[in-house]
Amino acid sequence: MKHIAQEALTDFVRKSLPSAEERSIHDHLAQCAKCAETASLFRQVAAIGTREAQYEPPSGLVRSVKAYFGTQQKFAPESASIFELLFDSLAQPLAAGARASVASARQLLYRVGTVYVDMRVDSALNSEQAALVGQMLDSAHPGHPVAGVPVILMDGRKNVASTISNNNGEFHLEFALKSNLRLSIAVGDASPVYLPITGVEHKRPPVQSRGVN
Ligand SMILES: [Zn+2]
Repeated sequence: MKHIAQEALTDFVRKSLPSAEERSIHDHLAQCAKCAETASLFRQVAAIGTREAQYEPPSGLVRSVKAYFGTQQKFAPESASIFELLFDSLAQPLAAGARASVASARQLLYRVGTVYVDMRVDSALNSEQAALVGQMLDSAHPGHPVAGVPVILMDGRKNVASTISNNNGEFHLEFALKSNLRLSIAVGDASPVYLPITGVEHKRPPVQSRGVN
């Protein structure tokens, strides 16, 4: 049996497929536990970024994401990179023309050591103004919010906007959109990492992406 490609599954969970293709994937998932499990994981990852009032990270999610990407990267050479991009809603292939109409929100999920940084960047149509909301979650200390961590948006060496994570590990920044913005985060005593926020559109799909810094 031919399994569903990961790219198609991510589009499927985001309900962005033509109905014929959606139906055929739906039928496949009904009889393929392997693809159904992957789809369910992608659905949970996508749900991380939807910030509802009642939002709490589903317990066990971080573990399963970690385990899943662990299996995907089993054969990757040991890397010195100190962060990796796990999910980027814009890295998923879309039909030509579709991207411009839906690109007003972008979800990014990074891992920095044991800390997961989940972010959503929103910009209004035809506007340079953008808002970034994010939350950090330490998989090594699930009950302890990543609070009081300086979060700085950088344009090169220039500080564009900065804040400090609140008692839930959440942060919120507003800024003017530019390419090559990076978010500097220093967790604990570690040196800061610089997470690309814009200008990472042309990277390979997130499962293979490794941070270089
Ligand atoms: Zn399958």
